[in-house]
Amino acid sequence: MPMINGALIQSYTICKRQAWLMAHQIIPDQEHPYIEIGRFIDEESYERDRKKINFENVVIDLIRSEGEDLVVGEVKKSSRAEDSARLQLAFYLFKLKEKGINARGLLLFPDERKKLPVELNPELEKELEKILKDIEKIILKEYPPPFKKIGYCKNCGYREFCMS
Ligand code: SF4
Repeated sequence: MPMINGALIQSYTICKRQAWLMAHQIIPDQEHPYIEIGRFIDEESYERDRKKINFENVVIDLIRSEGEDLVVGEVKKSSRAEDSARLQLAFYLFKLKEKGINARGLLLFPDERKKLPVELNPELEKELEKILKDIEKIILKEYPPPFKKIGYCKNCGYREFCMS
C-alpha cells in the first residue's frame, strides 16, 4: 500500500473513488488533455524560481525563502479546485513541520495571475488529521467506493474505469 502523498489528498477531496484508484496505482489516461495541460504548466511556469524537493512521500514544487521564512509554493492549473489544492499544500506544510521545519505556503495560479497564501493553524491540522485517517480507511478497502457521477468526471483521467 503506498504512503499517503499530496496527490492522494487532492484526489480524496475531489472524489473518493479516484483516491482509491490512485492509491491502488491504476494508471490514469496519460493522453487526457487535463493531465497534458497540468504537465505543460508544470514545465513552463515559474521556471526561474523552480525547484523540486523530494522527501519521504512528499514532492514540493517550489521553495523560496523570504527573509527568515521558508515559502513553499505549489503551481496549479486553475483555482476551480482551490480547496483541494489548499489541503494538498497544507499537507506539505504539515510534513515539513513534523521534520521541525516551519514554512508558509503559497498557491500559484499562473493562468489567472492569482496567488493564495496558506498557513498551518490548529484547525487546519485537525482537518488534515481527520482526512488522513479517512483516506487510510478508504484505500485499505478491497474495492473502490461506487461510481457516482460528478462535475469533475469529464476532466478525470480515470474516466475509463468508471464510464466505459
Ligand atoms: S470519473 Fe468521476 S467518479 Fe470516476 S474517479 Fe473520476 S471523478 Fe471519480
